[in-house]
Amino acid sequence: MNKFNNKCYICGSSDLSDTGYKLRDSKELKVLKCNNCTLMFLSSFDHIDESFYDSGKMHGTSFNIDKWLQNCKPDDERRFKFLKKHINGKALLDFGCGAGGFLNLAKNYADVYGIERQDSLENHFKKNNLKVFKSLNDIDKKFDIITMFHVLEHLKDPVAALQELLTYLKDNGEIIIEVPNADDALLSIYKCSKFANFTHWRCHLYAFNEKSLKIMLKKAGIKINYIKPIQRYGLANHLYWLIKGDKGGHLKWKFFNIFDPIYKTILKLFRKTDTLIISISK
Ligand SMILES: [Zn+2]
Repeated sequence: MNKFNNKCYICGSSDLSDTGYKLRDSKELKVLKCNNCTLMFLSSFDHIDESFYDSGKMHGTSFNIDKWLQNCKPDDERRFKFLKKHINGKALLDFGCGAGGFLNLAKNYADVYGIERQDSLENHFKKNNLKVFKSLNDIDKKFDIITMFHVLEHLKDPVAALQELLTYLKDNGEIIIEVPNADDALLSIYKCSKFANFTHWRCHLYAFNEKSLKIMLKKAGIKINYIKPIQRYGLANHLYWLIKGDKGGHLKWKFFNIFDPIYKTILKLFRKTDTLIISISK
């Protein structure tokens, strides 16, 4: 029998609501929301056991490294562009590095390491000359920069993971975290139920927004340097969700891209972007 999450992970409140959102890949799980701190989380975490990520279950049966890297390329390039100057000559660790797309770009600038649990990637990392380990216990080194792109929301105990990562950080080092934003305009302004029922899935145990992140990090005594809203998807993607109720609009209605600079700026001003970047340190 599943253990039901009946208290908020961050604030401990039991004043929870069922959001009514569905998951794209589970009929049993519900998405709950804490009425006190706004954290959203799945009704149970029991489906994620110790071996879940080792065996690559996150990717289902259609797993292909090249396709994965291709899909991640725009994000890997955006992250690299954002951090390029910052990482020059530094020791960098990418925690949950996936297929290593970001590390492959960063390796010519920084001394890069990765942590990735998925067993089937070992040969791929060897071939690409990447120092990727299965666990932090395999690494005896401190880093200037630790990156964590779309990983925090997968972890059952994100604060414990951050506390452990902080011990691998040099005194003046920085952890850069990227997470999906639960205040995404498609959810918070347009209330697009088709998107809500797509974006929630069994691997995202938590959905954070700026408020819940701030409360969580403050409570854990972790220093926040900044929280930066960024918008990955543009107007075409949003209009397609609202009109057709489906993903992929950014590939189908590219003529709307001309409006993206202003559209993305507005979403940033309202802090209703699809993504948040958080910098923390000791
Ligand atoms: Zn709460």
